[in-house]
Amino acid sequence: MVRILELEEYAKKNNIPIMEHDGIEFLLSFIKDNNVKRVLEIGSAIGYSAIRMCLVNDDITVTTIERDEIRYKEAIKNIKKFNLESRINIIFSDAFDVLLDDKYDLIFIDAAKSQYIKFFEKFKLNLNKNGVIISDNLNFHGLTHTKDEIKSRNVRGIVRKLNNYIDFLKDNKEFDTAFYDIGDGISISKRKN
Ligand code: SAH
Ligand code: MG
Repeated sequence: MVRILELEEYAKKNNIPIMEHDGIEFLLSFIKDNNVKRVLEIGSAIGYSAIRMCLVNDDITVTTIERDEIRYKEAIKNIKKFNLESRINIIFSDAFDVLLDDKYDLIFIDAAKSQYIKFFEKFKLNLNKNGVIISDNLNFHGLTHTKDEIKSRNVRGIVRKLNNYIDFLKDNKEFDTAFYDIGDGISISKRKN
């Protein structure tokens, strides 16, 4: 597990927003308990969560998309260190430019917070019949729940969009969503029967 710690340290040092401890543990338990085999991740960063998901079981595969070149290259290195090249397919692209035909048991949205509705609408087409969409960072460090005035205009915009996403999930005709106050806030959306 030393190498996992190294990834966590690298992320901390370089301000890479990998999943928080409680959040990743929650995600890994979900994968284990629900026998998830095929994962699509939007937002690889340095490959940390993709690697951790693969390490749950030998027969898990992850397709993951990253648009930042430096992070993508770091992810490639990390995936190699763990000998997971055959199980992690990392795509260097903006997720909106990627067309996938495959279906996945789990779609994990962990990318630009202002685009979550668009990611959800695009990639729900790649979800298996009984698959789920999990989203990270819905709390945005508590900011989506605060009643205080947020000074930065940019941050205010992201908070507004995340709240729109939360409402979109709550009102969704097609999916039921459960919200968890774990890590930085996680949701699990399942298709209604
Ligand atoms: N899942 C990772 C952390 C991802 S951080 C982990 O927990 O280990 C979010 C990443 O999403 C960033 O690296 C950012 O570059 C990427 N990203 C944001 N918007 C994107 C988009 N539209 N397409 C592809 N990658 C995107
Ligand atoms: Mg995240």
